[in-house]
Amino acid sequence: MDCPVCGRPIIENGEYCKYHDEANSNLYSSYEEWKKALPISWIEYLIEVEERKETGKWVKELIEYFRTIKSL
Ligand SMILES: [Zn+2]
Repeated sequence: MDCPVCGRPIIENGEYCKYHDEANSNLYSSYEEWKKALPISWIEYLIEVEERKETGKWVKELIEYFRTIKSL
């Protein structure tokens, strides 16, 4: 199977390639952090993160993918 975001091979027992898998873990763990400080929904959070200049390429691609499949 290939990574649904970029088509690279996925990691063992994973959903994504190593890059997007790491981006996914980072995205979820920083959401946990944000939620402690802000009443922010997952979708609002994704939009916020995507707009940040410092957000990395892999995270942006992953968010783009979420927005496509879940029509966020
Ligand atoms: Zn990928």
